[in-house]
Amino acid sequence: MPNYDDHAANLHRMEPRDRRGEQMTPESPLLDTLVSSLRCLPGIGRKSAQRIAYHLLQRNRPGALKLAEALSRAMHGIAHCSRCRNFSEEELCGMCRNTARERSLLCIVESPADVKAVEEAGFRGLYFVLMGHLSPLDGIGPEDLGMDLLGKLLDEGETREVILATNSTVEGEATAHFISEMVKNRSLQVTRIAHGVPMGGELEYVDASTLSHALAGRRAFR
Ligand SMILES: [Zn+2]
Repeated sequence: MPNYDDHAANLHRMEPRDRRGEQMTPESPLLDTLVSSLRCLPGIGRKSAQRIAYHLLQRNRPGALKLAEALSRAMHGIAHCSRCRNFSEEELCGMCRNTARERSLLCIVESPADVKAVEEAGFRGLYFVLMGHLSPLDGIGPEDLGMDLLGKLLDEGETREVILATNSTVEGEATAHFISEMVKNRSLQVTRIAHGVPMGGELEYVDASTLSHALAGRRAFR
């Protein structure tokens, strides 16, 4: 077992040789690798990666080791459900196996985080997760979003209504339109979630496109 404390003290005494470049600590290739690896986290640049690396080495080695193990296990153990494409450790995820859910409703979302959000809103049907949206400029076409799998799922006959819950961005709308055509060809009901003014929101602070969506999606007042 290496003595981390002594080693950390030695590292602490070392002076960075080059303050201008990427390599602040040429003394430790391991530290360099850690810092550059941390930069795969969203929103983490070089400075933040360095801060995190130093923090973990100085103050929380047990936590960091636990994180490393959890990351490794999750990356190796989590794949995609063969039916809905959501993250799953099994061939079929828990939701797709659950016969107590409203299986005639299929909610289509862009990401697993959206599943969580819709689930928290109380939806109890099934999902299909695109893992993105149509984006011709980035070379993302229907085949990348599992549209063949979606087609097969719709042909199974369990679905009665498809709820399009893609984001209200240009790409999200284009993706919703593409799927609505697929659904209509199969004579199934297709609906789009309403996008509008957030609860507790004041009109003055709502942007124009959100307000325009809210006006277009107005309903009879009850
Ligand atoms: Zn599933």
